[in-house]
Amino acid sequence: MHLYVCDIQGFCIPEFVVKELTIMDAQSIQHNLFKPSKPYEDIDLFYRKQVKYLERYHHLLRYNDGLEAQKNVVGIIRKFLHLNELKNSESDIIIYVKGYVKEDFLRKILLDSCVRIVNLEKIDESPKLCKTRRRCEFHNLDNYDFMCSLNNAKCIYEWLCTKLIPQ
Ligand SMILES: [Zn+2]
Repeated sequence: MHLYVCDIQGFCIPEFVVKELTIMDAQSIQHNLFKPSKPYEDIDLFYRKQVKYLERYHHLLRYNDGLEAQKNVVGIIRKFLHLNELKNSESDIIIYVKGYVKEDFLRKILLDSCVRIVNLEKIDESPKLCKTRRRCEFHNLDNYDFMCSLNNAKCIYEWLCTKLIPQ
């Protein structure tokens, strides 16, 4: 059994666009910031307001920031999961994620695999994801706490370890 935790921060314009991605297992962490899928000017006014809100008050990630191309999101996740090498043992892979939009996104991009996706939103005792001021270079550090995928993924992973290791 190979356990992964994934957290994604993004924008709905209205389609979900990944901005900050963290996927990790016991050995390593993949943490990326992605460029937008289309120019800000091409977003409908209604969704632009949401973008501005998320930029200022939620995750404090700027819509236009990012180094990796949006089209690489799927490849980066699949590579981290070793999906191309491990065809026979995909069913041994479990990804833990918290949130319906994130679950939906992962299901769509992993549709052709046997990877199991567990949405912790459906599990009562799962950890609450909180805003932080812990330093992560990707965020626009105003004086607000912010939602960070790196912090969220670590938080879920720590909780998972307490569940898996007998006390
Ligand atoms: Zn972050």
